[in-house]
Amino acid sequence: MSNNRGCSTGFKVGRVGEEPEDAAGTARRMELAGNVRAVRIRLAAACAKAGRDADEVTLVAVTKTRPAVDVVHLAALGVGDIGENRDQEAAPKAAEVAATGTRVRWHFVGQLQRNKCRSVVCYADVVHSVDSARLAAALAEAVRRHRERPLDVLVQVSIDGDPARGGAVSAVGHGHGPAEENVALDRVLARVTEADGLTLQGLMAVAPLGWEPARAYETLAVIVADVRRDYPSCTLLSAGMSDDFETAIGYGATHVRVGSALLGNRPTLM
Ligand SMILES: *Cc1c(COP(=O)(O)O)cnc(C)c1O
Repeated sequence: MSNNRGCSTGFKVGRVGEEPEDAAGTARRMELAGNVRAVRIRLAAACAKAGRDADEVTLVAVTKTRPAVDVVHLAALGVGDIGENRDQEAAPKAAEVAATGTRVRWHFVGQLQRNKCRSVVCYADVVHSVDSARLAAALAEAVRRHRERPLDVLVQVSIDGDPARGGAVSAVGHGHGPAEENVALDRVLARVTEADGLTLQGLMAVAPLGWEPARAYETLAVIVADVRRDYPSCTLLSAGMSDDFETAIGYGATHVRVGSALLGNRPTLM
C-alpha cells in the first residue's frame, strides 16, 4: 500500500492487463475458471456435510510461484483472498497486481523472518504465521513505523508440538513438555494481544507430514477450544490445503489455503 509510511514504491512493475490477451492467456484463464468451479463445489459439499454455511469458509488461493496475471484472473473469478509464503516473491507481485487496479486481500502464510516484517506490513492484510514472541514484537514494531492501520494476525500453532517445523507450542493436545518461552503458545498469544498494532483474529496450522488429516485437525480442534476459553475473540481458524481441506472444514476451519487444486501443480516443491 503506497500510503503506508516508508514503504517502497520502487518495484519494477510489469504490464499485466495492458496488452490484449493471447491464446495462451485465454486458455489459462479458462483453466483457472474450471479449477475455481471444482474447488467451490468441493468446498460447498464439505460445508454441507459439516452442517455449516458455505459462506463461513473463506477460500484463500495460494499463488506462490505463479505470476501476477493469475492473481488478476482469480480476482475476476471472485477469489479475492490471495496467499503467499515468501516476501521476496510476494512484495513485487502485490505491487504488480495493485498497478493493474485489481484489489485483493493479501494473506502472508509462510515462515516469516523478523527482517522481512517491514516489507510484509506494507502489503499484507493478514499474517497467518506469527509463531514466536520475538516475531510478534518485530511485527508490531514494523506496523508502528510503517503502517497506518493495525494488522490482522493469526497465531500459527504446531499440531505435533515440534517447534522446529514452525508453529507455537500449546500445553495441550500432544505429549510434549513445556516449550521454550519464545514459542510457548500462551506467551505468543499474550504478546500479540498486548501489541498496539496487531489484532489477534485466530489461529493457523499446517498438518504435520505423515499424519492422517483427521488426526491432525482433531488435535488442532482441541488446541483451538482451549485457546478460545481465554481468547473468545480468537474466532478464525486457517487450516486445510488442496488435499485435505474438506477434513479441516469438518473440524472448524474458517480459512482454507488452496494452492495446487486452483493453480495446478507447482513446477518446484515449495
Ligand atoms: C503452499 C502452501 C499451501 C497450499 O498448498 P497446496 O497443497 O498446493 O494446496 C497452504 N499453506 C501454506 C502455508 C503453503 O505454503
